[in-house]
Amino acid sequence: MVEISITKALPEQLKKKPAPDAQLGFGKLLTDHMFLMDYQEGEGWKNPRIEPYHSLALDPAALVLHYGQEVFEGLKAYRWPNGEVYLFRPRMNYERMNRSAKRLCMPALNVEFALQATRQLIGLEKDWVPSAPGTSLYIRPNMIAVEAALGVQLSKKYLFYIILGPVGAYYPQGFNPVDIYVSEKYIRAARGGLGEAKTLANYAASLLAAEEAHERGYTQVLWLDAIERKYAEEVGTSNIFFFSNNELITPPLHGTILPGVTRDSVMHLARSWELKVSERMIGLDEVISALESGKSLEIFASGTAAVISPVGKLAYRDKTYVVNNGKVGPLAQKLYDHIMGIQYGKIKDPYGWMERVA
Ligand SMILES: *Cc1c(COP(=O)(O)O)cnc(C)c1O
Repeated sequence: MVEISITKALPEQLKKKPAPDAQLGFGKLLTDHMFLMDYQEGEGWKNPRIEPYHSLALDPAALVLHYGQEVFEGLKAYRWPNGEVYLFRPRMNYERMNRSAKRLCMPALNVEFALQATRQLIGLEKDWVPSAPGTSLYIRPNMIAVEAALGVQLSKKYLFYIILGPVGAYYPQGFNPVDIYVSEKYIRAARGGLGEAKTLANYAASLLAAEEAHERGYTQVLWLDAIERKYAEEVGTSNIFFFSNNELITPPLHGTILPGVTRDSVMHLARSWELKVSERMIGLDEVISALESGKSLEIFASGTAAVISPVGKLAYRDKTYVVNNGKVGPLAQKLYDHIMGIQYGKIKDPYGWMERVA
């Protein structure tokens, strides 16, 4: 299973690449090729191949379409000033994908092989990696159950594929705080559920709450725990951090929270700067009383897409609170600069986080 067969797109099939200064947005453009491989129970993964980007032919009874057996990942490739292309801690993504797959009773990938496939695909699509500040090539690995059957059951066949697309800077107008709405009505995940897996059901569960937050003028939802609806869990599809009294707090991984690669990197850096880092439950009452007392408090989210997303305003039970005067706090700024600096090869990477691909 080591040899990946490659079918290149014909010159007339190649898409037009965006201009170097184009507004790329997120996920609107996809590159010319994709990686695919098949899984059959009893045989394992087979037929790894790179092909021209194409639609999938699925049986209408494919199990993913009915019972949601799917897991995915999201990571980025960054172009360095010397033209080389690097990935940020990509092993963590495939290890997490395997944990997600296990929760959904799906087969594990060979992490090294998945990385090799990712590198080979990006190598072929190297010219698609943009170079304007803050831009990158987004990588979306996906695994779906493709056996055709109408009863609820485990699929015996799966498809794994990787698609790529150039994405723009998350903050084209500069690094800005977002307004978030605390959801008491809806929850994203309960203990024992799917919250720690990157699987489609979690995102389906989040859409209505996000819609209602948007209607009220907020960018993101702050999710609370499912039982007491009291403890902060995540923001939108990112992890959450609070910084007050020299303590950086983030909710613990109790099964409802996605273990973010950025979350782990934030904690790592904060510890290296000798901040106290606590993984503990943090109640909204604690947050609100800090906001009401005027104590210094930073709130920010972390994730691959935006790296760090500072919170400028928080709405909770018909009241809105301004956080850190609506400004980007010093810790959020320092983490943002540092992580982006490492990702784009502008500052030294003492942790071996970056892996060269092309
Ligand atoms: C992907 C994701 C994150 C962030 O994870 P990163 O590895 O840092 O990108 C956080 N929460 C949810 C729900 C996610 O889907």
